[in-house]
Amino acid sequence: MTTTLFPSIVSSPFLLQPLNLTKPTSRSLSSKPFILCTSQNKPGTSSKKHSMNNSRPTSKNRGKSSYGTSRRSILKKTFNQEQVDFTAPIPDDPIVGIIGGGMSGLICALNLEKKGIKSTVFDTGIHGLGGRMGTRVIEPQHLIFDHAAQFFSVSDARFAEIVNVWREKGLVGEWLGTVGELEAGGQFVPLPSSPPRYIGVDGMRPLADSLLSETSMVNVVRPCWISKLEPFNGMWHLSENGKHCGQFNAIVIAHNGKCANRLLASSGLPLIARQMKRLELSSIWALLAAFEDPLPIPSNTATPPFEGAFVKGVDSISWMANNSRKLVRSPDNGPHCWTFFSTAAYGKRNKVPQENIPVATAEKVKAGMLAGVEQALGLPEGSLPTPIYTRVQLWGAALPTNSPRIPCIFDPRGRAGICGDWLLGSSLESAALSGMALANHIGDYFQGGGAPPEEFAVGLHHEFRQLEGRDIGQFPGLDSEMQKDDIQNYQLTA
Ligand SMILES: Cc1cc2nc3c(=O)[nH]c(=O)nc-3n(C[C@H](O)[C@H](O)[C@H](O)COP(=O)(O)OP(=O)(O)OC[C@H]3O[C@@H](n4cnc5c(N)ncnc54)[C@H](O)[C@@H]3O)c2cc1C
Repeated sequence: MTTTLFPSIVSSPFLLQPLNLTKPTSRSLSSKPFILCTSQNKPGTSSKKHSMNNSRPTSKNRGKSSYGTSRRSILKKTFNQEQVDFTAPIPDDPIVGIIGGGMSGLICALNLEKKGIKSTVFDTGIHGLGGRMGTRVIEPQHLIFDHAAQFFSVSDARFAEIVNVWREKGLVGEWLGTVGELEAGGQFVPLPSSPPRYIGVDGMRPLADSLLSETSMVNVVRPCWISKLEPFNGMWHLSENGKHCGQFNAIVIAHNGKCANRLLASSGLPLIARQMKRLELSSIWALLAAFEDPLPIPSNTATPPFEGAFVKGVDSISWMANNSRKLVRSPDNGPHCWTFFSTAAYGKRNKVPQENIPVATAEKVKAGMLAGVEQALGLPEGSLPTPIYTRVQLWGAALPTNSPRIPCIFDPRGRAGICGDWLLGSSLESAALSGMALANHIGDYFQGGGAPPEEFAVGLHHEFRQLEGRDIGQFPGLDSEMQKDDIQNYQLTA
């Protein structure tokens, strides 16, 4: 079946230009201390010098893990660490280690394969790949919740190609339900149906799983939490709590937040680490709740009850969506599965370690958010039906609030790059475009044929700017009149 793209408006600020190659500046790498990491070996063969070490870092030559160290010591390490400098030629059959299997890391792997480059994707996901494209299914009741990304719009032709493939496979559909803005008190204003809103028909997670389903040069290791990066004998060595996970000619950091800062604090990549440290992230609480009966949604004869709403004027809620209508498309027989997100301000005020949420905090947040739902819907206090299932979750590193506005970052001397939504914005589309840009750049670098490495440096000194958007990210074309005029949106047909 053929697919067609119908650009509705002209010119997109999200269209990627050829990467602007940064020349070394006064803060050039060459003036910094560096570790020379050279080897003439092919990957997999050990050098004479290191043959006794089995060409892997051992407990003797491996530095102490940076885990468990204080924020101050991480900062000190980040800024004082020496630059690693790989000088060995790139082998004919290089392999890239990608840390993070969200949208950006997966698209990066897919596009490396298109260039004939092998990769291994490491991801912490216990339930599956996808990172913030999470869908949770609770059995045996078969409750279903998209618990991070909710829907997306399409404004770039290359992202449109990916989404069209998903549409052809029946994985993506247009969300035709009513979506709009809900004022505290129950006043609802629908958003226009253009630009089209897309959803994963069985939730977001299957989209992530499908990305690598037809690849042959991508290896996935999951669940795996890469805790150390070490340049050694001309290669990057990755490990998880002391367990060796493989060696790579180049690495991609496709995740952000505290974990990335720790990983980079003593990696030998000070410029990459410094850019990552500039990133600011919001925190958002998610409340997943199932109700036996439909919620009393305000509606009028002109619009059917909404399925998704950006909430305004309520401290604890910024978004609510009915997964049962959006995904299961069930009429009114329950249970009714809702995803509620807090505002970023509420997330910040109630922030706790996301891996270890105190029970009292979970209870307080649940009560605060359910009260916020009541307020948003304009219901009398205490009248919201009691949910039959609830779960609270904190997205501690939810969405970027600033961005260098460059598709990817690459340090050619350290043979390391970064991709992720935050390089361009805060959406699935930004994440996909970033992964694609980094894969193409690494492909060009590998084929560089001895060009000076500095010519491949990208984004290492780029300034960051604040990001506009909703508390749950950006929806190109949906957010402001100005954006609508500037952005080319795509109506996809399968
Ligand atoms: C609450 C919420 C709502 C959102 N709603 C929308 C929406 O409606 N529409 C939209 O377009 N966008 C939305 N977004 C944003 C969207 O989800 C992200 O922009 C996108 O998923 C980011 O993809 P990524 O690859 O950059 O990062 P991620 O998806 O975060 O992927 C990073 C991956 O790396 C893994 N990882 C981290 N550390 C390690 C390690 N040391 N070793 C191995 N793996 C590691 C993580 O587990 C994760 O799987 C939302 C985000 C949140 C939090």
